[in-house]
Amino acid sequence: MAQHKVDYTKSGGLPVALTSIDKLANWGRSNSLWAMTYGLACCGIEMMAAGASRFDFDRFGTIFRASPRQSDVMIVAGTLTKKHAEFIKRLYDQMTEPRWVISMGSCANTGGMFNTYATVQGVDRIIPVDLYLPGCAPRPETLQYGVMLLQKKIRANTANKSQKPKRLM
Ligand code: SF4
Repeated sequence: MAQHKVDYTKSGGLPVALTSIDKLANWGRSNSLWAMTYGLACCGIEMMAAGASRFDFDRFGTIFRASPRQSDVMIVAGTLTKKHAEFIKRLYDQMTEPRWVISMGSCANTGGMFNTYATVQGVDRIIPVDLYLPGCAPRPETLQYGVMLLQKKIRANTANKSQKPKRLM
């Protein structure tokens, strides 16, 4: 009988990938962060530039969507007014879990220079924020770096935080 022998040291190792469900899910989530467009003021222009050809967000797997039901991450770019706060909360609630929020620019972070009766003094007063990007306005590279940090945060997540990974062999 003919013996079939494969030398795996020559063919680039065993054709098997070992990982955990956590890592696989986080890898998928972090590389397909569909972003909900939320350009409220001048920071929105920088956010749009990040998606255009010069900066090209698509290579991160980040594609802008106009629907909360198709989005994983909400990028709040600009000044949030009190009149508008109700809608941001409603749209955030319509996003599917897990979801993340990036606050882009001083206005979204703290109300910026608009300490007035009409401006929300930080979007985190309305919805939970995962990442704050400083600047007026932050450059598209800052937003891309922010998404990379968010990817890092997502990859560090575990389904059961109290459970430590253990070797079985
Ligand atoms: S932080 Fe600056 S650039 Fe961004 S919305 Fe406010 S005023 Fe405009």
